[in-house]
Amino acid sequence: MKIAFVSTECVPYAKTGGLADVAGALPKDLENLGCEVKLFVPKYFLIDEHKHGLAFNWDIGEMPISVNGKIRSVHVHQSKLPNSNVEVIFIDCPHYFHRHRIYTNDLDEDERFILFSKGVIETLQRMQWTPDVIHCNDWQTGLIPLYIKDNYSWDDLFNKTASLFTIHNIYYQGRFSKSSLFAAEIKGDLFYPGGPVEFEDGVSFMKAGISFADMVNTVSNTYAHEIQTPDHGAGLDGLLRWRKDDLYGILNGADYDVWNPETDIHIPYHYSHKDLTNKIKNKKFLLKHFNMPFDEKVPLIGIVSRMVTQKGYDIFADALVDLMQLNAQWIILGSGEDKYENMFRSLSNRLPKKVGVYIGYNNELSHLVEAGVDIFIMPSNYEPCGLNQIYSMKYGTVPVVRKTGGLADTVKDWDEQNHYGFKDGNGFSFNDYSGYALYKSVERAVNTFGEKDVWEKIQKNGMKKNYSWKHSAEQYMEIYKLAMEKKGA
Ligand code: ADP
Repeated sequence: MKIAFVSTECVPYAKTGGLADVAGALPKDLENLGCEVKLFVPKYFLIDEHKHGLAFNWDIGEMPISVNGKIRSVHVHQSKLPNSNVEVIFIDCPHYFHRHRIYTNDLDEDERFILFSKGVIETLQRMQWTPDVIHCNDWQTGLIPLYIKDNYSWDDLFNKTASLFTIHNIYYQGRFSKSSLFAAEIKGDLFYPGGPVEFEDGVSFMKAGISFADMVNTVSNTYAHEIQTPDHGAGLDGLLRWRKDDLYGILNGADYDVWNPETDIHIPYHYSHKDLTNKIKNKKFLLKHFNMPFDEKVPLIGIVSRMVTQKGYDIFADALVDLMQLNAQWIILGSGEDKYENMFRSLSNRLPKKVGVYIGYNNELSHLVEAGVDIFIMPSNYEPCGLNQIYSMKYGTVPVVRKTGGLADTVKDWDEQNHYGFKDGNGFSFNDYSGYALYKSVERAVNTFGEKDVWEKIQKNGMKKNYSWKHSAEQYMEIYKLAMEKKGA
């Protein structure tokens, strides 16, 4: 099976969140299952050409591509995804991608990803490579299913190409004014109230992706149901209910080449479920890094995430006073909205021995936090899949999560499981989206930390779980086949 995998982030080149982890891992497992995969990403300014061995593709040369009535010159660079044979194709257009951030609030943000979408299609044309499936991810690639069914339908190359659209977060929809229709050369007759690209009198790239793709999926079963409800569908729940027979949930996996405490290149002390003594050395190392004292009896609680309301920082703020009363220390890594960054900055200024904070993006530190902390909290309002709870389990770090999306599908509450007579809990969780419910779960985790045998059992339950991509890649193969059947290939 030939797959064109299209993503606007990918580890190790450019990352803002979980999509990058998915794009850097899933193609490798698809390849292991016998697929031929080509991965398409924009060539952002921040991608280091030398470090990643990018080579200019002279065969493709210069491609003139029109966006918003202007012709832009597009080039292609190539490389191989580390530890694989997956070819990575970087779409380069300095006018749009030589900016200081991956995503911007610039007025031409729509044009940047229109160019990318067309660039992917026109590169496929120049390579004369027909994928069986174009796998599109999130709103930035939402126009591709529309383009191959309409604007580029004249090209027989795509006669048998099916499309899959994966929703990684329904709240980021790529909504723009009507003028995007012209910029993207979308036919006017596709734009009407309630139509496949219209949303509140503007254009929604995500809606186009959901409407035109042969199959649609999201990144956990629970989230696949949640987005069909008005509470979590962000206005697209009606469309998703309409497409429910073509909508699947496939849980993200973890790339254990990268996230594994036995081999992780970013942590000083390696360990496995057979012997956890080195985990404590990582904890000491992490605390020393933040100039904080070590006490074996005091649990260390970690957070690594974008600091946005989605991740539950509003209820964290509500519970702040109580949480700080608990006999625990905190390491917090993230960046995002000013109000949350400032909340954490002032917390560590007030309580420097109790709270260590790093505001910013730091990949190495994120690995060290997973290895060094005892408890990891994710109180998200909604969470399509969530990766850090999966990484946490592998690192013997016990997750405390709100039961939503992929968090609900992966974390089993220790006490709840016990209540039903099972000893297979791997974390702590709560339902109610409130500071009080969050506080009570963290309190339960902190109290349980004192019971060493129980704690080790919870840690090991998590460490033995296997969330490798292999199983999810097999499910993607199934959904690709369904997409191909729909396309009549
Ligand atoms: P989302 O995609 O919504 O941000 P996920 O849990 O799916 O959430 O993925 C987040 C990914 O981004 C994880 O790999 C996490 O470690 C990483 N990450 C988030 N914030 C930071 C940060 N400040 N520094 C380093 N890595 C981060």
